[in-house]
Amino acid sequence: MIDRCQDHCCADANASASPAWRRALWIALAVNAAMFAIEIGAGVAAGSSSLQADSLDFLGDAANYAISLGVTGMALSWRARAALLKGITLFALGTWVAAMTILHATYGTLPKAELMGAVGLLALVTNGAVALMLYRFRGGDANMRSVWICSRNDAIGNAAVLLAALGVFGSGTGWPDVIVASIMAALSLSGGVQIMRHAIAELHAEPQSQTGGTAL
Ligand SMILES: [Zn+2]
Repeated sequence: MIDRCQDHCCADANASASPAWRRALWIALAVNAAMFAIEIGAGVAAGSSSLQADSLDFLGDAANYAISLGVTGMALSWRARAALLKGITLFALGTWVAAMTILHATYGTLPKAELMGAVGLLALVTNGAVALMLYRFRGGDANMRSVWICSRNDAIGNAAVLLAALGVFGSGTGWPDVIVASIMAALSLSGGVQIMRHAIAELHAEPQSQTGGTAL
């Protein structure tokens, strides 16, 4: 979910130009983009809103890595525009997840708990592996702390999906999925708004805009 990984985490804007670090960022970008597709697809297939909600974090992280990779030599205003696009995308997807959650609650959809659990576990393992890779490349850097905080928050989200799967399995109802998804969707929507606000403030703070255009 977006709130877990905003500008402060997962990748920093001042990523060094070291080829090894850039390669690590590319790997992290590819893995997160793939996991977004897998988790959102599995979420639809399993009828699980919490899987869909959790997938948005992978998209947000992939966007962060992409911005980090592209940011070297990029004007602040373009970075802010990229962040704004990310915020809008995540807010739109968060709205869709919220709508799906309401639908599932209304129709009493029973998610496939096994698929939820398997993909939630895959997400947890993937996040751990990426964190370990970035941690290793980042040796001694102060930003290791942000990698750690972000990974921990991601793991909490993945664990929430696993708990929801367990709850669905145990109760034979979709309510645990709906409850977890509602919390995640709310965090995603507020996270999306925060990202948009921050990006718009950055665009307005720009002393002079070369293109002269406004963001919206
Ligand atoms: Zn994340």
